[in-house]
Amino acid sequence: MKCLSCKKEGEIRVEVGSFCKECFIRYYERKVERIVKKFKMIVPGDRVLVAVSGGKDSSSCLFLLSKLKKKIGFELEALYIDLGMEECTNPRTEAIVKKLCRQLEVKLNILRMKEIVEKGIKEVARERRRPVCSVCGVVKRYLMNKYTREWGFNKLATGHNADDIVRFFFKNWLSGNLEWIAKLKPIVPSTHPKLVTRIRPLFECTEKENYAYASIRGFHFVSCTRCSYMLRKDKWREILEFIEKKRRGFKISFVKNLEKLEMRIPEKKLRECEVCGEPTNLKICSFCKMFRQGGKG
Ligand code: SF4
Ligand code: ZN
Repeated sequence: MKCLSCKKEGEIRVEVGSFCKECFIRYYERKVERIVKKFKMIVPGDRVLVAVSGGKDSSSCLFLLSKLKKKIGFELEALYIDLGMEECTNPRTEAIVKKLCRQLEVKLNILRMKEIVEKGIKEVARERRRPVCSVCGVVKRYLMNKYTREWGFNKLATGHNADDIVRFFFKNWLSGNLEWIAKLKPIVPSTHPKLVTRIRPLFECTEKENYAYASIRGFHFVSCTRCSYMLRKDKWREILEFIEKKRRGFKISFVKNLEKLEMRIPEKKLRECEVCGEPTNLKICSFCKMFRQGGKG
């Protein structure tokens, strides 16, 4: 297959077609820069914290934002959360993250679950009979928001890709979580003084594209550790691959149309958790219920 742009021999095959390495890098970087500017994800003077896990997506996100840093004029640091679970965060992933941050000259902040609460994620999951990933999701959302704000950043960037977005869409659509679907956007503005604005610069990039980009750029990343529990259970990956095979470009068209979708879902009013003061729509936030209180609820 020839390169879509220059018609030389194609070396990289992604959903939209083949590219030679140079044209792919150009296509990918332009795409990310365009979406960042189109949705005013980052404006001059912003302080952006990027959540990194050692995987291809968050590493690509950090790499690209470090390239855009001077162009737009914003401050950038990284955050790595040691979840205290060998399967998901371990010395190897941490070493990879440290190396990339050193190369890019980006300051890395590390949070260790063990230093914040006594209980572990797996213990809480067992106690409450919930999937490990769902407890982990609560932890990550809580810690990322709290520390992004407390450390003085106004935006939190994550490496969510188009595959993640389409998967979240269907899962939440089928379980009727329309409020979550309304938040599947490249930028989710803050709705409470203690809630930071979240941005997803790789919203229009597929997993395959991120993999290709990370490989060509030559940074080390962990291939499947990022969400090992999730991967074992998630059938959506196969379903989406099947649709993509039948209809080329499905995922990218899907997220682009999602960007335009206007949903007026009345949001639950946020208040502050009675235990920790963090924003929540409950009396006591899910994190405190799980990690700071005993029993169910
Ligand atoms: Fe958390 Fe991902 Fe590990 Fe699940 S697989 S526990 S979501 S890091
Ligand atoms: Zn709380």
